[in-house]
Amino acid sequence: MSSRPGFPHGGLPDQGWKLYITSVVMIVTAGLFTLGRCVLRLHTRQFGRDDIVIVVSLLFSILLSVTIQLAVEHGYGMHKVDLTKPELPAALRWFFIAQTPYKVVTCLNKISAILLYQRIFISRRFQIAAWICLGIVVSWSLGSIAATILQCIPIAGSWDKSVHAKCIDSNAFWMGYSISNILTDVMVLALPIPQVLKLHLDLRERILLCGVFLMAGFVTVASILRATAVHNSLRNQSDSTWGFIPRGIWTLIEADVGIICASLPILKRPIGSLLSRLFGPMSAGQSSDTWYSDGPPVHQTLEVPPRRGPFTQGGMQPVRNHRQGDWQSAARDSDVELLHTKGMDSGPYLGGVLRKDSWTVTTEQAGVLDPDGRCHAGQSDCFNRIAMVLRRTPTAVGDGASPSLSHGQVMPVPNPTTPYWRIELHPIDEHRSTEQLPKQCDIAIIGAGLSGVATAYHLIKKAGSNPPSVVLLEARQVCSGATGRNGGHCKAKTTTLLGVARDKGVGVANELAAFVDQQIQALKHLVEEEDLDCEFELRRSYDVFLDPVEAATVRKEFQAAVREGQEWTRTRSLIECKHLEQMASMSGAQLAISCSICSFWPYKLVTQLLAKLVESGAVNLQTSTPVIGVGQVIDGSNVVETNRGQLRASKVIFATNAYTSGICPTFTDRIVPTNSTAVHITPENGPVHPHLSQTYNIGYQADRVDYLNPRPDGGIVVGGGQWTYRDDRKRWYNDWDDSKLLPEVMSHFDGLMQRHFLGWDSSGAEIDNMWTGIQGITRDGLPFVGEVVGQQGKQYVLAGYNGGGMAMIFLCAEGVAEMIVNGKPYEDTGLPMMMKSTAGRLRGSL
Ligand SMILES: Cc1cc2nc3c(=O)[nH]c(=O)nc-3n(C[C@H](O)[C@H](O)[C@H](O)COP(=O)(O)OP(=O)(O)OC[C@H]3O[C@@H](n4cnc5c(N)ncnc54)[C@H](O)[C@@H]3O)c2cc1C
Repeated sequence: MSSRPGFPHGGLPDQGWKLYITSVVMIVTAGLFTLGRCVLRLHTRQFGRDDIVIVVSLLFSILLSVTIQLAVEHGYGMHKVDLTKPELPAALRWFFIAQTPYKVVTCLNKISAILLYQRIFISRRFQIAAWICLGIVVSWSLGSIAATILQCIPIAGSWDKSVHAKCIDSNAFWMGYSISNILTDVMVLALPIPQVLKLHLDLRERILLCGVFLMAGFVTVASILRATAVHNSLRNQSDSTWGFIPRGIWTLIEADVGIICASLPILKRPIGSLLSRLFGPMSAGQSSDTWYSDGPPVHQTLEVPPRRGPFTQGGMQPVRNHRQGDWQSAARDSDVELLHTKGMDSGPYLGGVLRKDSWTVTTEQAGVLDPDGRCHAGQSDCFNRIAMVLRRTPTAVGDGASPSLSHGQVMPVPNPTTPYWRIELHPIDEHRSTEQLPKQCDIAIIGAGLSGVATAYHLIKKAGSNPPSVVLLEARQVCSGATGRNGGHCKAKTTTLLGVARDKGVGVANELAAFVDQQIQALKHLVEEEDLDCEFELRRSYDVFLDPVEAATVRKEFQAAVREGQEWTRTRSLIECKHLEQMASMSGAQLAISCSICSFWPYKLVTQLLAKLVESGAVNLQTSTPVIGVGQVIDGSNVVETNRGQLRASKVIFATNAYTSGICPTFTDRIVPTNSTAVHITPENGPVHPHLSQTYNIGYQADRVDYLNPRPDGGIVVGGGQWTYRDDRKRWYNDWDDSKLLPEVMSHFDGLMQRHFLGWDSSGAEIDNMWTGIQGITRDGLPFVGEVVGQQGKQYVLAGYNGGGMAMIFLCAEGVAEMIVNGKPYEDTGLPMMMKSTAGRLRGSL
């Protein structure tokens, strides 16, 4: 054999180098794609079965390359006649061995693609189709591999013609395999197309997705070209070591292109980002250089080790034990001066002011103590919270160090699930008004959901000709929090009002119901005045009770409230005639109570309103800018610490709902993030008639309630199903990860329309989108609105809506704007007193 296998030598032609080069180029490319895919998946904690399968496929592809190399080493690529007697069977043997890893690779590539599609498209029909495809691919592959290995008995007859062996018709087998390979490729390629066609994507997404599918189609093209090469090679079987080279090349290309194509849908975003960097942005306002970029969601700030800085150096250390002196030592370790203390030596009483350079933090401000200096939840908890506050408090202005999130800080995660409402994005979605974060402003609003945008709107409107400078900071994209993930209707449930009347008094229930009614009118006025195209609709809604026992209880309580003349019952009517099922369109309905509500597309309302504010220059919007902490300097102004630097603001508004405790420790354990699920259901066979015009709350049992919003196009948004995972508290309570799904609810939502709604039996209704969202719950079920306790005139909050914010936010925002612009006390804003952010309500955690 020559010292340079694969290259012509000693006057003997050799084209083995073609295989050599192809295998190196292809395996390196496939390896890079697989690496990129795995890094991205690990980074976003989404590494799954499809990734494992593709890694195994890559390993087999490496094995394929090695065996082909060994075939070349032994003379594959030379004319048969030029090979010595021992070389010929050795070359043919390695070529024979290579056939098995090739078939394993093609099989695994198809399996990985199907598993990936199963992760994306969750409808039951698709899952079944995918399992059938998997079955076909696996059984076909096992059959082909067995036939490849056993094509001659004894096996050695496959490469050594001197062995008397019984062999199958290899020509027919090779062609049969190639054709069935193409057919299974086409099957896998076609599998997701009906689902993709159902997606409402913008042009850019469609082009990108088409590109991805075209590339996936290239595997099929490679299979076809390989089949042609196989066919051509059969004409020259007498010189197989020379004539089979094109066929070997296409074998390598097909195997590795399959690995690359299987990774393309996952790498779609980074590739899109790269293209937009190379050829300019693809859509207005899209940023790709940020912490929350469109590329691989960058999570690393969570992982960076604690930096050395005045508040983190020692403060990052957990307080060592629970002795009172530890507070002082925690402060000392943190390089923090204890300005004054109160009650340090008297049991559970602690309090004081910590200072470092120009920073001060009071323990009240830190949410550690009640205003009377009493520890909320036991001494050890207090010490831990002090350590936490020291960790979260921003560094002194201009200390030059880059900020870091503390691990476990309540913060929007960078890669949330995509809700139905956010499938068509507004150009403002990722907008930044200025490239640089402004250095200062009058008012910094944190959070670009309905609360933040409505507050900005009212502030600007109320301020008239002398508007304050407003900066709106958003960790992710506009309306990517609960507002972009909810049920889309504004309503107070009948059972909620019954409960409020029972626990807090009829007057409070009346006040709440009136507030929600005003809200609906105010939203209608807003939509008309600002000409917002958001499918706003005044509708009716039914509270339907399916459980006879619960229905009887509610009927009794509601009728008693009506008899007593409770004001809030006047706009609600009880329906329990014999035609109840037809009226509610629900089988098994025992009782229904109807009321007036409104519904709209929350994302459209928020983005269109915000676009007007931003276009007019009234608001400086900064998306992909998570706020890490808020502190104060000695002159009393706030310093808002972000991943892009600091912003000084005279006033700060926390419009951060479930995430508020992450940057305002006053609300630690007072507003708790909880994870909840919603789905979108589509009737496969077109809209069901008659159209469901009302929205619903469906009570299956006393503690099992869903909300349901029929959409104008015949689809349905449904949320709830919490009881399916409620017992496993750690999966949803104090959980702010809306990148993960809670799959247990699937079995409840699956077939829900067919089970409960009249006329839907043959609708073919299926879940086509499922997402999670984070709600902020509070002990008394009401939001905190107004000034942050201990921060009068400097910091404001409107957060913690307990899953019903759409019905409260717009007027809460108006009240907060009134306090800021016109200096009114909370009591004069017209906001319900029960929502006021007070020290009393902060007592006692959830
Ligand atoms: C699945 C689901 C269904 C729901 N259904 C309904 C319903 O049908 N009717 C109803 O009335 N209510 C419903 N709700 C509740 C309702 O959606 C919320 O009450 C409301 O949207 C809260 O609006 P918000 O603007 O206060 O908060 P969000 O919309 O969550 O906005 C807060 C924003 O602050 C940002 N943010 C948070 N922390 C930071 C930080 N540190 N730095 C920068 N930005 C930050 C977030 O990214 C987010 O964009 C539902 C909620 C969920 C999750």
